[in-house]
Amino acid sequence: MPGLFIDVQVDAKVARDAALAAKLVEVCPVNIFAKGEDGALRIVEENLDECVLCDLCIQAAPPGAVRVVKLYEEG
Ligand code: SF4
Repeated sequence: MPGLFIDVQVDAKVARDAALAAKLVEVCPVNIFAKGEDGALRIVEENLDECVLCDLCIQAAPPGAVRVVKLYEEG
């Protein structure tokens, strides 16, 4: 389930890449990413709305692999 304001979507291939998962866990300032017991990336749903739209996760991943989706209209 997405947050109220933000959803973060991660390409399934990236989510299984342990090194990339670790990188995403490290870069997000509000801990939206976590590593599951199987080593795969997990989205911490209760933190989604803390997203500050810093784009660090998008820069850390291959192009298009991570999407931060605003669920509200701007302006
Ligand atoms: S944009 Fe920033 S705060 Fe939002 S999920 Fe990515 S790294 Fe975390």
